Amino acid sequence: MDFDLGESANALRGELRELIREQVPADFLGAFTDDPADLAVAQQFCRTLAQRQLLCMSWPKEFGGGDASVWEQTVVREEMWAHHEPRGAQYMGVNWVGPIIMRHGTPEQQRKHLPPIANGEVIWCQGFSEPEAGSDLASLRTSARRDGDGWRINGQKIWTSYATMAQWCFLLARTSKGEKKQQGMTIFLVPMDDPAITVRPIRTMMGPHHLNEVFFDELKVTEADVLGTVDQGWSIVQDVVSFERVGIARYARCERLLQAAPDVLGDAWEELPAELRGRWARMLTHCRRARLMAYRVVAMQATGRVNPGDAAAYRIAVTRLDQDSAEVLMEIAAVLPRGDGEYFRAEVEDHWRYSQASTVSSGSIEMQRILLSRTMLAGARA
Ligand SMILES: Cc1cc2nc3c(=O)[nH]c(=O)nc-3n(C[C@H](O)[C@H](O)[C@H](O)COP(=O)(O)OP(=O)(O)OC[C@H]3O[C@@H](n4cnc5c(N)ncnc54)[C@H](O)[C@@H]3O)c2cc1C
Repeated sequence: MDFDLGESANALRGELRELIREQVPADFLGAFTDDPADLAVAQQFCRTLAQRQLLCMSWPKEFGGGDASVWEQTVVREEMWAHHEPRGAQYMGVNWVGPIIMRHGTPEQQRKHLPPIANGEVIWCQGFSEPEAGSDLASLRTSARRDGDGWRINGQKIWTSYATMAQWCFLLARTSKGEKKQQGMTIFLVPMDDPAITVRPIRTMMGPHHLNEVFFDELKVTEADVLGTVDQGWSIVQDVVSFERVGIARYARCERLLQAAPDVLGDAWEELPAELRGRWARMLTHCRRARLMAYRVVAMQATGRVNPGDAAAYRIAVTRLDQDSAEVLMEIAAVLPRGDGEYFRAEVEDHWRYSQASTVSSGSIEMQRILLSRTMLAGARA
């Protein structure tokens, strides 16, 4: 199987690795730590990528992008995730908020929101899940009622990543009661600095900033903050999840850590049980498989609509890979003598903690399996 994306993509990969070496501290483990310097690294790195037209490479020039191919953007995605995402939370704006506003936003919304994302200046959060509406998102209760020339929003969101640092929220609220519960929902683009919004962090083993509760108490928004058509938000949600589910190139970090292991262990590598080395080799094969499934979805995104079953199949493969490779890497790192390979050990430990949530975030693995089965059965019937 040939995974080579071509000469320009290879050159871009080299350029990105060089930039990371120059601008990201050698012991960086992501932007979301107790040390504000890590967040500052990410903010500066986003600006640097933006100045070089590397942040939103595949966006059209009119929206501040570089008109590059989706394959070049895929290289950016892979290199960033492989190196602990030095764009910080910005990856969400680049991966799905921007593309969705391009598809569904008014010209005014595009002018207002796209340049700040392309310039690496703004962080978005996603206000979908609620305490009683996660897998069953259409049961959400946060409501928006008409009030004069705008809307009043009340309710609560939960598990909202990066809400403490976000300037904007991509919010789903109920605006009417439809025949089906998927009807009557609307997307609002909401500024997070409004005093009617309260954010409460949730402590988790993933560290600070990741998860939060967000409360809306009579938040006033205008008609200009509605994305798409009132009551038709569910179709935008479907578009969001198909972008979101292939947005993170998890296989790239797994592959980099697995490939680094023999060098980090040195002579100790040969002493590992053959069974463990066998599992290590199998994980590398799984990395290739997940990469191929991601490329299938990226190719579809480039030409039109993504089949939700393909996005679900990739998501199942890559989240299993994330967790299974984390287990193998933990066993390998345990062999390292104290004082050797400390950064590798920290990377593996970070990867393990983060991977535990991967089969829940962006829709649980059980729901992905249901989605995949449904699309396969529908295909078999057609
Ligand atoms: C790290 C992380 C980041 C997140 N970031 C965000 C964010 O930024 N914005 C946001 O809106 N949300 C976010 N979420 C929330 C995420 O989308 C939900 O956690 C997810 O959709 C599951 O919903 P839930 O937690 O309510 O679990 P539930 O829906 O209560 O599910 C609990 C369990 O029951 C299973 N289950 C539920 N229904 C069925 C069924 N019909 N058949 C079979 N099994 C079922 C599920 O698979 C799961 O195992 C994040 C979650 C995590 C872990």
